[in-house]
Order: sequence, then C-alpha cells, then structure tokens
Amino acid sequence: MRRRYVVGNWKMNKTPYEAQLFVEELFSVEGGLPEDVELGIAPPYPALDRVGATVGPSLVHLLAQDVYQEVSGPHTGEVSAEMLKACGVTQVIVGHSERRRYRNEHEIDLTRKIERLAEAYITPLYCVGETLGEREAGTTERALSKQMSALEAFPEAAPRGLVLAYEPVWAIGTGRSATPAMAADVHRALREMVRSFWGKEAAEKIRILYGGSVTPENAAALFEEEDIDGALVGGASLKVASFLAIARAARRTVPD
Ligand code: PEP
Repeated sequence: MRRRYVVGNWKMNKTPYEAQLFVEELFSVEGGLPEDVELGIAPPYPALDRVGATVGPSLVHLLAQDVYQEVSGPHTGEVSAEMLKACGVTQVIVGHSERRRYRNEHEIDLTRKIERLAEAYITPLYCVGETLGEREAGTTERALSKQMSALEAFPEAAPRGLVLAYEPVWAIGTGRSATPAMAADVHRALREMVRSFWGKEAAEKIRILYGGSVTPENAAALFEEEDIDGALVGGASLKVASFLAIARAARRTVPD
C-alpha cells in the first residue's frame, strides 16, 4: 500500500526564524505526528539550512521549491542541486504552475532540473495541472500529457522516488478545490501515463498528490479516493494546526 504523503509548500513566506518556530511547534504537538503519514515542508531558500538542522533525520522531509538546471557557474541568483543537498534537502518541487507561468519554465528546462536532481540523489516532486481554459475546452488530458513529456528523458526507469502532484491551476490559491471525483479521474489518468512509461509496478508504486486549495475541511473527502496519495498544500500549510489537521486526515487508519 502506498504511504500517504502531505507536503507544505510555503512559497515566499516565513523568515528562517519563523520557519524554525514552525518546525519546533510541529515537533512538540500533543499526541505527536501521525505515524503512518509522511510529511514534507518546502521553505524558501534562505530558511533551508536552518530548518535542515532542525528536522535532521526524521520522517519530515525537507524540500526546496525549485532548483537550477545547471551544475554550477555564472548563473547569478540561482541555486544548484548540490547546494540544496548540503542544506539537508532530500526532495525538490519541479514544475510548479507559478514557475511555469511567471518564470516561463517549459518541459525542456524541467527535464534538465530533474536530471540535476537525479545526479545529486534528490527526489523530484513533479507538478502538473491544467488551466481553467484547458479544462473548459476539454483538453485537460492533452495538457497533462504534454507536461508529463518532461519525464520521457528517463526511458529506463522513473527518476528515483519520483512523486507527482496534480495541481489544477484554477484551484491553486483560489479557495476552489477540485472535487474528489474530478481529482481522482485525473490521478487515474496520470497513473496510466506512468504505466505506459515505466510499467505496471511503477504505476502502482508512484505517489500522486493532489494540490489546489486543500484545507482541513475538504481534505478527508479527497483522501477517501484510493488514487489520491496525499496532498501538496500551499496556504493551509503555513500554520501548524491546519497543516497537521490535513496530515491527520490523510491517515489510512480510522482517526480516533
Ligand atoms: C500550491 O501552490 O502548491 C497550492 C496547492 O496552493 P494552495 O493550497 O494555497 O491552493
């Protein structure tokens, strides 16, 4: 059975100090962290080192929100996979719609980012999702398949530990989540694409998270869908209480 996974994408929020306070609060919650759910947090770059020292080797993964596609060199303002690794980062978000949209990132760049991560033994969390226009035009699957083509550069096997996140662009930060049925349909289609790339075992194993206005109120209904293996959470991950409520809703065992 795939282990559920809940990741908080903090985007451009929290100073290193605020990030550390969050982690300290998270680790001291009454009742502890849910044991059968993996957690991840993706602070902004300046907070990574400090958070990395606090999470240490625990079940809370440290993610970065992006990585640069080159190994090193004259790339002012960019951060390499090896630098992230040195901060304790084990996974990196690649292809978030905000970067595709505002930083003009295309599949060709995203493939190269995933290659750099693979070289550094870092797991990619690859995001895909259609715009409202694409959904309304009935071209959701075509849009996703174009985005998934960034993974065609890995014909032998999926990049180590690869996690996918389905994040419909129209649901991100809008308070308008996809319905569980809508999300589950897309997750099944993505799993089928994974099967066609790397076979049945890879498709059964891969975790596909849903992202887009997940809150403590709607999380349980989303997690009732077998094909939804967790969540990538933006706004609701900024407070320990709401992040944890979502993580608890992700438990496969019946909560007490
Ligand atoms: C995100 O940006 O990855 C996201 C899912 O944001 P939100 O939960 O705020 O919609």
